[in-house]
Amino acid sequence: MKYKTIECEVLVVGGGVSGIAASVKAAREGASTVLIEKNSFPGGTAITGLHRFICGLYANSKDMPDKILNKGIASEICFMLQKLPPEKNPLRMGKVYVLPFAASNLMSVLRSLSQKEKQLNIYYNTEVVSAKTENNTIVSVTIQKFNKKFNIIPRVVIDCSGDGVIIKLSGARYETTSPDQRQLSGYTFRVKGLKHVDDILAVKVPYYLSKAAEQKKIPFYLKYTTFVSGDDEDEGYCKLNIPPELTIKMEKQAKKDALLVHNFLSMVLPVFKKSYIVEMSPEVVDREGPLLYGKYTLTAEDIINARKFPDGIVKNAWPIELWDQQKGIIYKYLEPGENYEIPLRCLVTKDIKNLFCAGRCISVTHEALGSTRVMGTCISLGERAGYEAAHC
Ligand SMILES: Cc1cc2nc3c(=O)[nH]c(=O)nc-3n(C[C@H](O)[C@H](O)[C@H](O)COP(=O)(O)OP(=O)(O)OC[C@H]3O[C@@H](n4cnc5c(N)ncnc54)[C@H](O)[C@@H]3O)c2cc1C
Repeated sequence: MKYKTIECEVLVVGGGVSGIAASVKAAREGASTVLIEKNSFPGGTAITGLHRFICGLYANSKDMPDKILNKGIASEICFMLQKLPPEKNPLRMGKVYVLPFAASNLMSVLRSLSQKEKQLNIYYNTEVVSAKTENNTIVSVTIQKFNKKFNIIPRVVIDCSGDGVIIKLSGARYETTSPDQRQLSGYTFRVKGLKHVDDILAVKVPYYLSKAAEQKKIPFYLKYTTFVSGDDEDEGYCKLNIPPELTIKMEKQAKKDALLVHNFLSMVLPVFKKSYIVEMSPEVVDREGPLLYGKYTLTAEDIINARKFPDGIVKNAWPIELWDQQKGIIYKYLEPGENYEIPLRCLVTKDIKNLFCAGRCISVTHEALGSTRVMGTCISLGERAGYEAAHC
């Protein structure tokens, strides 16, 4: 069937943090760029997961960071976020620093960055449904907005979908971790009406849930739930970490689990007694999806040994943070002051000539993904993919 056709130089699929950075950079480099996003808003997992902190921005050091590891769009986003109320400064979390943010601020920063670009056309509420490949080249991508379909004829495609949508549709090779090894997925709810929140609550919540799981009052995985306080003093966020096999159309189950956790906490912790849920993630969010089989696959050893590459394009000092199904969270840190590099070869494949990947689905091992998948790193990966795509 013949659909209306849109031609562009760079097509970016997915408007999460990596996709926004990729499309803004490609447009700034002069390429006519189209961004396709199935949601009605930018930010992807960072928004639907109700995240609170940007990780992977700073050097691994004891001191308050004064600069961001990767200059460019990551720095611009942080600068713009920090200008908006409420005031947010880098915060030490364990051995590393993060930048707190409000979801509404991140959305408006991403919108404002992308709206400034004249070479960039964004289609929200639009989904990529198929792709046609000839001679190892993507020649067209079909998108659907409500009932209408269009064909996009791109010169280069950047897959920022997190789910490897274009990797799969184009026939590029990819790896998937077996379901029992995959990292836990997430589902968050926000509560108000908390009384006298203190720092110890972040320890008490998993402690009480652990006890309840031991006594089989709640499913065992709910003991991995974390708590962080919100911007208002009566506000907090509970992040459930749930097995990924539950996530296929399992929003209903996640919602049930969230209500169970909230009920339980309201009974055992006086802080929660009068609290009420005001927001829940609209979907379960995955830490791990398909991973490109790229020209190079970054490993845990590369990360821990702070390896540098001749084609290193993005620096990172975030530890390997694995959300294991049996053991919960496991951290492996780089030496203080060290960082590693992600080579450009992790973003490209031998299989498809005009495909780049950025964000969650680049070519890394399951363990290495525990470090590369954080937002700060995804922004810089997107930016570099946008640059390379515009010039390739
Ligand atoms: C539970 C959990 C907690 C996390 N906590 C943190 C944290 O605190 N700090 C941190 O820095 N990182 C955190 N992360 C990691 C981080 O959120 C993500 O890895 C990062 O945001 C990924 O960005 P992305 O742009 O690569 O992908 P995504 O944010 O997944 O964006 C992909 C976009 O593609 C769109 N899309 C998908 N398919 C299609 C299609 N067919 N057509 C059109 N659009 C499509 C999606 O709607 C989405 O907007 C967490 C992740 C999880 C799962």
